[in-house]
Order: sequence, then C-alpha cells, then structure tokens
Amino acid sequence: MRFRFPVVIIDEDFRSENTSGLGIRALAKAIESEGLEVLGVTSYGDLRSFAQQQSRASCFILSIDDEEFGSGSPEEIQEALATLREFVLEVRVRNEDIPIFLYGETRTSRHIPNDVLKELHGFIHMFEDTPEFIARYVMRECRAYLDSLAPPFFRALTHYAADSSYSWHCPGHSGGVAFLKSPVGQMFHQFFGENMLRADVCNAVDELGQLLDHSGPVAASERNAARIFNCDHLFFVTNGTSTSNKIVWHSTVAPDDIVVVDRNCHKSILHSIIMTGAIPVFLMPTRNHYGIIGPIPLDEFRPENIQRKIDANPFAKGIKSQPRVLTITQSTYDGVLYNVDAIKSLLDGKIDTLLFDEAWLPHASFHDFYVGMHAIGQNRAICDESMVFATQSTHKLLAGLSQASQILVQESASRTLDRNSFIEAYLMHSSTSPQYAIIASCDVAAAMMEPPGGTALVHESIMEALDFRRAMRKVDAEFGDDWWFKVWGPDYLAEEGIGDREDWVLQAGDRWHGFGDLAPGFNMLDPIKATVITPGLDVDGEFAESGIPAGVVTKYLAEHGIVVEKTGLYSFFIMFTIGITKGRWNTMVTELQQFKDDYDRNQPLWRVLPEFIQAYPCYEKVGLRDLCDQIHGIYKANDVAHLTTEMYLSDFVPAMKPAVAFAKMAHREIDRVSIDDLEERITSVLLTPYPPGIPLLIPGERFNATIVRYLQFAREFNTSFPGFETDIHGLVKETVDGEVRYFVDCVKF
Ligand SMILES: *Cc1c(COP(=O)(O)O)cnc(C)c1O
Repeated sequence: MRFRFPVVIIDEDFRSENTSGLGIRALAKAIESEGLEVLGVTSYGDLRSFAQQQSRASCFILSIDDEEFGSGSPEEIQEALATLREFVLEVRVRNEDIPIFLYGETRTSRHIPNDVLKELHGFIHMFEDTPEFIARYVMRECRAYLDSLAPPFFRALTHYAADSSYSWHCPGHSGGVAFLKSPVGQMFHQFFGENMLRADVCNAVDELGQLLDHSGPVAASERNAARIFNCDHLFFVTNGTSTSNKIVWHSTVAPDDIVVVDRNCHKSILHSIIMTGAIPVFLMPTRNHYGIIGPIPLDEFRPENIQRKIDANPFAKGIKSQPRVLTITQSTYDGVLYNVDAIKSLLDGKIDTLLFDEAWLPHASFHDFYVGMHAIGQNRAICDESMVFATQSTHKLLAGLSQASQILVQESASRTLDRNSFIEAYLMHSSTSPQYAIIASCDVAAAMMEPPGGTALVHESIMEALDFRRAMRKVDAEFGDDWWFKVWGPDYLAEEGIGDREDWVLQAGDRWHGFGDLAPGFNMLDPIKATVITPGLDVDGEFAESGIPAGVVTKYLAEHGIVVEKTGLYSFFIMFTIGITKGRWNTMVTELQQFKDDYDRNQPLWRVLPEFIQAYPCYEKVGLRDLCDQIHGIYKANDVAHLTTEMYLSDFVPAMKPAVAFAKMAHREIDRVSIDDLEERITSVLLTPYPPGIPLLIPGERFNATIVRYLQFAREFNTSFPGFETDIHGLVKETVDGEVRYFVDCVKF
C-alpha cells in the first residue's frame, strides 16, 4: 500500500535562478527520483495553519541559507530565527515525530538555538554531500516515520488488503468482485472504492486476529488504546455504545439485582434493565424550563438516600444485597459533566460497579480542561473496591466510523477484571461477523488521540467552540436591543484563549442554568457542546409575547445544508467535535443571520423553505414570522414548558418489574390503549418523546394525568402542524375512519 505524504520544502529561493535556488531544486529532483513527492513553497505564510501540513507531509525541509540569514543584519537574523523557531514549535505541539531538517550552509548552524536544534532530525549541509546522498538520507527518515504511524490492526488490515489473496470465506462479495458483475453493483464499487471492499473481510482471516476473542493484531490494538486512554483494559465494540452498555451490564447484573440508574439515561440502559431482569431505582436529574436536563444533585448519590429509594420501591425493599451497578450519563445531552472523584468516593464499596456512560465524552482524557470530570484516565482516583467502567462512542466525538465504540475498565485496588467471564458477556451482544472497517477506525481514532496530537485536537475544538460563542455575542452586541440567539452557558466568557476551566463550573443558584442549588465544584459545562437558545421562552418557563420555536429554525438550517444534532422547544444543540472547522461554525453564524433577516421581513415560506413547501404545500403563503407566531401561540396556550418539565419530574411508581411488563408483549397479554384512556394503565413499552429522545415512561410504570395531557397536546399539535410533528417512540399510530389515532401497548387488565 502506498500513501501520499509529500516532502515539504520551505525555501524562499525555491523558484529563484541563484545558486541557492539551483541547490534546493537539485535536492528536490533527487528526492523525487527516490519516488517521494515534493511540495516546494517559498514562505511559511500563516504559520499556524501551515503547521497543519504536519498531518499530510512525510517531513519538512526548512532552508536557512546565507541569503535570508548569514549575511543579513542582526535584526533580520533574529526575525528569521524567530519564524523558524515558531514554526518548529508549532509543528511539535501537534506532532512529536515528523522529521524536520534544516538545510543551509555550515556556518549558519551555530545560530540555531538549542530548543530548536533538539527538535531536528538533521542539518543538511549544502554543497558538502551530493543531492542523491542527501535524498537517500531524507528518504530513510521519512520511511521510518511513516512506518511508525499505523497502529497494529490498521497496519495488518492494509497489508492484507494489498496482498491480493483469493478468498473462499465470507463475505460473499469476495473483496468486491461480486459487485462488478452487475450495473448497480458497479456503481456501488465505484462509490466506495476498491480498498473498502478488499478490507471487508471475515474473522476467518487469521493474520488479522479476532475481535471476539481479543487476539492477534486486534488485541494489540486494544492494548495500544488502553495505554493511550490510561485504563487497565479496553475493548473495542463494533455495535455502538448501545451494545457496550449492554455488555457491561450483562457482565455484572443478574435477574432481581438492584441497580441505580440516572432517570434520564440512554435507552440502551433501559434495555439493559429489561434484558437483565434488574430492579431499578432512579436518581432524578434537575431540569430547567428550556427543557435542558441538568445534573443529578450530589445528595441523590448519598448511600443513605439511595437506600431510602430502595426501601420505597415495592420490588426492591427487603432485598439485602447491595446494588450491582450505578449508571449515569457522563456528559448529559447538553454537556453537563459530573465530578467523578466525588461520586467514586461516595459510592466506593457501596455499589459493585460504577458505569459512566461517556458516549459524548471520549475526548476528556486528553485535556487538562476536564481534570476530575471524566471517569478514567491518567492520575485518576481509583476505588478500593468498586470496579469502574466507561463506555464511549468513538464515532460521536472522535474519528470513529458509525457504531465505533469502546469499553474502558479501571480496576479497583482490591479486584482485577476476570477477562474470561467478561468476554462471555461481550460475546452475548456481538455479531459473529464484526465489520473490520469499524475495528480499524477504533484503532486509528485511538492512535490519533495519542498526546501531544490528541491534546492539540481537543484544544482546537475548545478554542473553536469559544470563538463561536464570542462571535455570537458580538453579533448580539451589534444588534443592540434587537433580538438575537443566545448560546447557553455562563455569563462570563474569557475574551480570548480558552480561559479558565473554573469559568465553566456550575455555581449554586446561577440564573443562566436554572438548576438551583448545586454542590460546589460538582458539575461543569463542557464548552464544546453548544445549546443555542431561540427567543420566546425564559429559563423560568415564562413565554414571551412572540417567539421562535427551534423546530422552525432547524428546518430552515436543514434546507441550507446545516443539520443540527438535536432540537428542543426553544433550543437546538450543536457540537464542536475534532472535525470542526472555522468554515463550519462561521456558516452557522451567517445562516442564523439570514434566518433573522427572513424572519424580520416575514418572508413567505415558498421562498425561504422551497423544499419543505413541496412536501407541505399547505404552508405556501404563510410567512416565516407568522408560522413562528402560530406555533409559539399553541405552545404558550398549552404552557408546554411547564407541562414537559412537570412530566419528566413526575414521581413514577413502578407497578411491575420492567422485564415482566415487557414480557407481556411476547405473550400477547397486552391491550392497545388509546391515549385518552391511558391514565393508571401500565405500559409494556418504553415511551420516548423526540426531542429530547430521553425515555419518559418505562415498562411496568403507570401513566399519570400529566403524561396523558402531554400526549393529547402532541396529537393536537401534530394535526395542526404537519411537518413539525413531535415524534414519540412507543406510540402506535393507526388511521381509523380517516382519523389518525394514537395508542400505547399496555399490560392487559
Ligand atoms: C448515543 C448514546 C449511546 C449509544 O451510543 P451508540 O454508539 O449510538 O450506540 C449511549 N449513551 C448515550 C448517553 C448516548 O448519547
């Protein structure tokens, strides 16, 4: 396999007709005849962005010869040195290993300060050796560097794909050949390319090792990732963190075990409760009226308060054994983090296993900004007894392909992980045909995070996220009293740089978050998660005279090629992953300005949302502001902010164990109940409104009046505003006599 990594030469004489130009071009020619590509440039341009070339170069050759250096005035020398040094250090912030050579005359080398010299792979002396000799020397260093890049599994896979072996094993497309026999298959092949298909192999290929028994190059990669993420064990998972969570649960929870769970956790955790037959007691997060989920207060974690909940639970009370697992969403959907050390010290030895669902937090290990606010990493507290797990979606914030996920394990001082029995749980949830491209992306995503490169990537994400927030405030300031969007976060924002992480710690009683009295230092907002608040609703749940429901804004953005992560009533959510670019967030700012302009002029929807109007011509002549007013009106009339908050904070009393209620479906012992008749009925299914996509009611719990009122509201809303429907998973939609009706599968009376 050949990769393209040009040798980058920076020399202001690269195109000049003087001796120095001739010399450097002779070297370039010699390097090219060794088979490497050369990219010659005559200046550094913008140093910072040029240093980014480190990701695509095989080495840098920086020229310092007489012209720009030796015979210059002392100021010129100083200036040239300063540029050189800044460039070298800028590269080294991201990349410790890429070869950097200086190219110049012997007598200039004495000017180079030590801190630059120690970063160099060599000093090429002009005219002393032949260009061919130097080219071979450069070549050797480049090869060694490029050879060191690929982590174990990715390396083995590229070799395998390049080897052209005939396969008799699955998959049946045989390295892509099957596609070539059909026209649509040809299209598929051309679209994805040969390598993706050659690398799509099955686990009969010995030399790649086995994901399922964690052997060979796969195991070497998992060990490499464990080293990078600073944990005792790390397992790659190719079916998403949904599966990672189920694996951890099945490794430690059995039927009728008590488990302690964040009420607003991901549905995979609720699936785990159902699958394992556990008895859950829930920790209740706070919530503000924007619909933003806050942290679970520290007090909820106190063992005596957990015990109180156990005693109040009809299925758990009387069970003497300690809870098997605690699971919380570490980084809530809006970016609120917990101080993990505080949780570990409260619950060590009180709960067997602490699982932090870090689907949105795999970056935290790599930057000081997050010290103490993630589960496992360098110099982190270790429990005496409890085992700590973190599950991370590599694909959400790092460079994994969809479904790439990993399980991190931190052993306690007194217990090691029994890998054999853990792997039994792993196997229960894994396909026997894992996708090798996903494994390779787990491997590469981890290798990319190796400091200092990974730290630089996270630093950049934080930096861009703060620049976005600053840009939004600047626009706001310019508009003066006129309306503009706000980005949810602390009032104080550093004027430049990433500021102090203390700025992001949630302080008790601060109005911006609306979560009330939080324990000091217990929570922090991750600045790379940005919730944009639209006008119309304040943090106390009071509706303004007019407002702009977020669903209209995100529909507008989508038609302009911007798709956001999640939409609430008056807020939407975007993330600054390591794939962020200035272009991307600047486009967001300008599109929001476009929206404002179109809104202020009440532009007709056929003009501003043409694709939407094709699907929903009923809005053709409606103006953008009129539409916002109408939707705002119905939200306001129904007091939806209070309704949803109240609904999520209801006191849910379980009437059945979740697994028992769910099993009623398999046995067809259910009634399909119309939403008007739901009060007091016991649900068999998970009921999950989108947004926010957090399960509201869990199998075995009873509907209360608030939830019924909400469902009736959603029905009315969906009839009035087709195209803006609130989606509620778990509802069965049926058309009876031309009328759309909604039902929920409940336990039979
Ligand atoms: C997305 C998510 C998951 C599931 O991750 P996938 O990789 O999509 O399967 C689990 N927990 C939380 C908190 C999530 O947001």
